[in-house]
Amino acid sequence: MGEEDKKGNRTETDKEAEAGIRERLKEKKRIVVKIGSSSLHHLSTGELNLTKMERLVRELCELRNQGKDVILVSSGAIAVGKKTMNQKPTDDEIPLKQALAAIGQARLMMVYQKLFAEYNHVTAQILMTKHTIVDDVNRRNAHNTFTELLKLGVIPVVNENDTVAIHEVEDTIGDNDFLSAVVAYLVGADALILLSDIDGLYTDDPRANKNAKFIGVVENLKDVMAMGKESTGSSLGTGGMSAKLHAATVAVNAGCDMVIANGKDVSVIHKIMEGKRYGTLFVSEKNPEFSIAEYIDNM
Ligand code: GLU
Repeated sequence: MGEEDKKGNRTETDKEAEAGIRERLKEKKRIVVKIGSSSLHHLSTGELNLTKMERLVRELCELRNQGKDVILVSSGAIAVGKKTMNQKPTDDEIPLKQALAAIGQARLMMVYQKLFAEYNHVTAQILMTKHTIVDDVNRRNAHNTFTELLKLGVIPVVNENDTVAIHEVEDTIGDNDFLSAVVAYLVGADALILLSDIDGLYTDDPRANKNAKFIGVVENLKDVMAMGKESTGSSLGTGGMSAKLHAATVAVNAGCDMVIANGKDVSVIHKIMEGKRYGTLFVSEKNPEFSIAEYIDNM
């Protein structure tokens, strides 16, 4: 959104234009929501934050009850496994992490299934790797499974298959921010919400630069990419944010609007879907030429 007054504040025209764009979110039919490990756990104890999970599930069931298709991408497998087995693997103990992910994923699903069942919804577990998406046959099979599940009214819960690929080693799809955009691409979603520990994008790191401005809407990804390089702080430049910008590239090209928002309070999900000004909205621009397999190969 361009116009700003002399102090860099948004003008009335700008606010109206953004409100118009956000209004479109009300009409979305197929929504992917991503939540990360740190948002699901009490950082002090490592235990699951059940109140938050319950609220998240309620938000998703409510979208489903409105007739929308819903997919959840959830991390947390390793964190739950660590707590269950009372293990603290070091960074290079990758097989141990994989074992903990296998333990934790099953427990995580058990909690999700219980919570979704309380609201009469069925979930399904989908574990993916990079090959699920770059291999044509695998991609088609995964697409068919998702399509059938959504037809059945089920809410798929997705994670990376840490047994065969894990974020810490090569051949991973990347982190779950990127995975959720890949899922959005695969299922033809029209909205993707990344619940994060930040409010969205700023022109610079707001902790380092008090003049940093919040960006409500990104209509052209190239502007943000350029700004990311110029930024003095970490808000746009860290690995975390660059993964989000990769996710945005996939979502935008797939014709899916993407919002990065703070997952501290998960009620932000319905507020976003009601067109309210929460998080940063990346406006989609479907590109029929875009090839996900090529994009991943070149990353
Ligand atoms: N698959 C990992 C887990 O569930 C998380 C990966 C990520 O959050 O990027 O623990």
